[in-house]
Amino acid sequence: PGWYFNLKRASDLLLSQYGLNDLAVFGCDRYPVATAVAGALLQYAKDVYGKKLPHIQNLRIENPDKYLLIDRHSWRNLEIETTISGKSKGSLLYLLDNCATMMGARQLRRWFRNPVRDHNEINRRHSIIEHFSIKRRQDSLKPHLKKIGDLERIVSRLATQTANPLDLVSMRTSLQILPEVVSVVESELCPELAQLCEQIDLLPEIRQLLTDAIKDSPASTLKDGGVICAGYDKELDELTTLRQDSGQALIDMEMREKLRTGIKNLRIQYNRVHGYYIEVSRLLAEQVPADYVRRQTLKNNERYITPELRELYSQLLVDLLECIDAIQTTGKARAEIDLLCNFAERAATLNMTQPEMTESPGICIKGGRHPLVENSMNRPFVPNDTELNDTRRLLLITGPNMGGKSTYMRQTAVITFLAHIGSYVPAATAQIGPMDRIFTRIGSSDDLTGGSSTFMVEMTEMASILHDATEQSLVIVDEIGRGTSTFDGLSLAWACASSLVQQIRALTMFSTHYYEITGLATQVDHAENVHLDAVEYDGKIVFMYEVKSGATNQSYGLQVAKLAGISKSVLQDAQMKLDELTSTAGHQMTVAQAPNRQLPLFEPQPEKPSPVKIRLKEIEPNNLSPREALDLIFELKNLANEN
Ligand code: ATP
Repeated sequence: PGWYFNLKRASDLLLSQYGLNDLAVFGCDRYPVATAVAGALLQYAKDVYGKKLPHIQNLRIENPDKYLLIDRHSWRNLEIETTISGKSKGSLLYLLDNCATMMGARQLRRWFRNPVRDHNEINRRHSIIEHFSIKRRQDSLKPHLKKIGDLERIVSRLATQTANPLDLVSMRTSLQILPEVVSVVESELCPELAQLCEQIDLLPEIRQLLTDAIKDSPASTLKDGGVICAGYDKELDELTTLRQDSGQALIDMEMREKLRTGIKNLRIQYNRVHGYYIEVSRLLAEQVPADYVRRQTLKNNERYITPELRELYSQLLVDLLECIDAIQTTGKARAEIDLLCNFAERAATLNMTQPEMTESPGICIKGGRHPLVENSMNRPFVPNDTELNDTRRLLLITGPNMGGKSTYMRQTAVITFLAHIGSYVPAATAQIGPMDRIFTRIGSSDDLTGGSSTFMVEMTEMASILHDATEQSLVIVDEIGRGTSTFDGLSLAWACASSLVQQIRALTMFSTHYYEITGLATQVDHAENVHLDAVEYDGKIVFMYEVKSGATNQSYGLQVAKLAGISKSVLQDAQMKLDELTSTAGHQMTVAQAPNRQLPLFEPQPEKPSPVKIRLKEIEPNNLSPREALDLIFELKNLANEN
């Protein structure tokens, strides 16, 4: 409801949650709207749990400038979290997740969603991965990590008092493993890892408490009993003896309770649902002492249990809650260790190397590969280099359909992304300069329900790129201007590419089938052509997938259509039409055919000589009388009016 977002109410709620007098500690005073939203979210979470949420302990202002931003379209286009068809299997996240624990996997997702721009943070992550990679330390660590429970989840269940006995066992096992984990990682050899390990609290008291209190293999729920160790609590021990050795003890207890309560018909009985319970007739129910808990009401009787067992367990949860901060920090550090260990394993398995984060602008990749395409193929992937820098800001990419243009551009974006989450990258070497955003304009899809046609979607995406991209943005444009007439599309594509390199100066990779656009490289600074090749061999088309400098004029569209299964007769018709079009030198004119030719669309129109100018050129001012000069003025005026 709207009133959840009331600033005063939201602030009060946050203040009471964090036990503060002023939210300025968090820097919230400058962000009233965000504060109102935070308060509303907290209220919502409280509503859902119906309880206090003591594990929510922090509030942080996130500055988007800290992150490499990737818009929703690009996120999907690059198949970062899901494939284009919406499945998680086959996505980048899926490929990179081989974490030993759920906490590691969740941390991976967090890093995926927040690729950082701070090179120090990225270098920190890289150093730890490097440390694990040497001597393949990750291999010896993994079995220990696998035994660790999901501390994060357990902490939230502790906080909401819903942790079950098995959660506590899992927590105890995790705490027992901790010292082993800390010793195996050899953190003394890596300062960054040592710093991370410092956040791990071995929590010896909690470990001891759990060892003393919870049985080795307790029942999964409290109701079944058999959770708390013998010797942990005297009263419980007595009750347990009572239960096991019911005979005389029960008779004694019944007598004792009759005396204590003065209820003569009080009886201790047993059934399979409630175990032992105390039965009192309803008429006398008002006389039962306060420590009896009503279990069941029958027509004539009330049934009660004594609350010792439940209270004991709840108290244990409360004791654990006091250390929630330390458990959380420990959990986070362990999640990071698992994740970085996972990155080391992935780097070795997927043949990835450490990128170098540099201060000079641009991207320099040698032997880059697209990890998803590479891992979905059963033939070798052809690695390629990418060089974008201050003086090489636009790469115009041409080549046949299916030639690998799209893959080449995407792999550059994926490598840049992976470097920013702190992972190694699929390349022989990579140097990545400061980046602020990744934009992609890839593929075409209608958004009919959203009221947009293919062309409209394309243009909307392009408009936002032109509006938001900066010198530090990586812009991938995979074809633009196809959903309209050839000349309209070509002109728009030309103008967009030109604006990206000249005005915005973004680091741009721009693929196109409009070969005319390759002419841009000779007309503006910092633009270059590269191309991919295919060759015809034995009547078939063979793709080379190797990026070479210069432009190409080969499209092989008909051959690719043949591969796709278009019938022979249609292809024959297409070939005839193609011959006709190219022979009339229409818009299929290629750069190779007319190397320095500019499109008429962009050629300056030859200037038509103006009659006024012609007349003026004829005049000899020194020979004119005042009268002739005056007449001439009238004549020129008339000439100007006529034109
Ligand atoms: P189109 O112009 O039709 O959109 P394209 O030039 O963008 O095509 P891609 O989609 O990048 O072509 O590549 C087509 C297929 O070629 C990929 O699915 C992959 O199987 C293969 N391929 C691309 N690049 C490489 C490479 N470097 N090494 C090996 N195979 C590759």
